[in-house]
Amino acid sequence: VAAEITVSPLPPALARGAMIVVLDQSVTEEAEQVRRDFVANVSHELKTPLTAMIGFIDTLRGPARDDARARDRFLDIMESEAGRMNRLVSDLLSLSRVQSEERRRPSSEVDLPMLLRGVLATLAQAIAAADVRVETEGLDGSARLPGDPDQLVQVFQNLIENALKYGRTGGYLGVGMRRIDHDPRLRGPAWAVDISDRGEGIDEMHLPRLTERFYRVDTHRSRAQGGTGLGLAIVKHIVNRHRGRLKIDSVRGEGSRFTVILPESLTRT
Ligand code: ADP
Repeated sequence: VAAEITVSPLPPALARGAMIVVLDQSVTEEAEQVRRDFVANVSHELKTPLTAMIGFIDTLRGPARDDARARDRFLDIMESEAGRMNRLVSDLLSLSRVQSEERRRPSSEVDLPMLLRGVLATLAQAIAAADVRVETEGLDGSARLPGDPDQLVQVFQNLIENALKYGRTGGYLGVGMRRIDHDPRLRGPAWAVDISDRGEGIDEMHLPRLTERFYRVDTHRSRAQGGTGLGLAIVKHIVNRHRGRLKIDSVRGEGSRFTVILPESLTRT
């Protein structure tokens, strides 16, 4: 471990000891490396659509100038590349906002079943388009717990959208909510929300890294689905802010279940 130790002498009148500042450089170097990797990833993710757009502009000015059909096709592609950049920048802003708020506990309350019903209503069109059978459990009635409504909407929207993107082949979407009398990790009563699909599933080796920024099992597939690779990172930070936890169970070829467990009260955390 590379560590830097500074010993500062105190003025003679106070000289009963010394102040020792220990700075573990391996930790700061690791954080610096993570930051550098993130900047490199962001640059690459932004550069890919930009390069494509610049290429199409050149083609539109040159060879495709008088070809109306080619022009329309290229404009469509450029629109979709611009949309990708837009989503990426929105997700980056979201992530940075969520990270900066992570230490501040949410001061408001949410009605969790009502919030989930709202998310399902918002996504009704996408759910219909994916042509999946939806099964809900425990979403009637009401249950209040501390939470930031906008952020929790973002959590469940991301998870349901992922279930539709990667799980639609299974034709099933499950959204269930249940109370846990005592969650051993949160050390108290909690509410669990399960979002399940019976789609492609995820190999076990990927699970520990899934919530890292820009980590994807299949980058090509994620991009083709309009993914930014930031959704689960955003989910993780929001859940952390709520002092909750995210559990991922998945079997390749069988499907996935993402469980968000939120404490019923924040007083004991
Ligand atoms: P993306 O924008 O790529 O969807 P996410 O952070 O939301 O980014 O998810 C990271 C990766 O986790 C995805 O690229 C995908 O490989 C995998 N993943 C997420 N949800 C599911 C799911 N329900 N089934 C299978 N794989 C999933």
